[in-house]
Amino acid sequence: AATASLLDVTDVRVGYGDLVAVWEVSLQLRAGSITALVGRNGAGKTTLINGLCGLLPMRAGTVVLDGEDITGMPAWTRVSRGLTVVQEGKRVFRELTVRDNLVLGLRGGGVKRAERERELERLYERFPILGERRRQRAADLSGGQQQMLAIATALATRPRVLLVDEPSSGLAPVFVDLVFEALSGLRDEGLAILLVEQLVDDVLGGIAEDVVVLDRGRVVLHDRAANLSVENVATSIYSSL
Ligand code: ATP
Repeated sequence: AATASLLDVTDVRVGYGDLVAVWEVSLQLRAGSITALVGRNGAGKTTLINGLCGLLPMRAGTVVLDGEDITGMPAWTRVSRGLTVVQEGKRVFRELTVRDNLVLGLRGGGVKRAERERELERLYERFPILGERRRQRAADLSGGQQQMLAIATALATRPRVLLVDEPSSGLAPVFVDLVFEALSGLRDEGLAILLVEQLVDDVLGGIAEDVVVLDRGRVVLHDRAANLSVENVATSIYSSL
């Protein structure tokens, strides 16, 4: 069913040494929808994302992707199952060309060599600026273009679930719009997207169907965006202050 959840996260706990930063978080991501993850600095958003994608060990809880328990799998195995992360801070291989960054994504997703050129062409069609700059080093792209490349590289792994950590951070508004457009397009093609975002107006203004608010490592609100106002969300973001 179109509304069944694709990723089921149940009672996930993640921390650093003695510090527990994410406490028993549960949430569901539906295919063809964007869920915005919001909260103050230090609320645990990045920690949760990194736990879900396998970059940080989970202390407790389960992650089930389309019925398969992926809880104990390393990050690269999760990628092969269809769960990919776009980490905070426009992470690309700066010394590699745009094309070679994308090829790394294709390899991570297990795309066969024979299909490589066709897949690259599809990515260039979706992100024309990357097609134009395919032979340039990633370091020579603008910040907005690097964020596009980070998203395109994640897409190259052919994910079903995409976790995106603050892609708008440090971008000019025109690039924020482009990033959101790209994510909306992926949502329309059926991906389940978890989007860390500080721009609450954008979150409620149409980018997200669902909203999850984290505060001090716990989910304090999980609802459809249509049911929420900026005041609702702001109040719960700052509820523990
Ligand atoms: P921001 O919006 O600032 O990125 P966030 O909601 O993503 O905030 P996290 O970065 O997940 O929050 O941080 C959650 C908690 O974990 C904070 O108390 C933070 O200080 C702590 N923390 C984050 N990274 C580490 C780390 N590498 N080692 C130890 N503690 C960490």
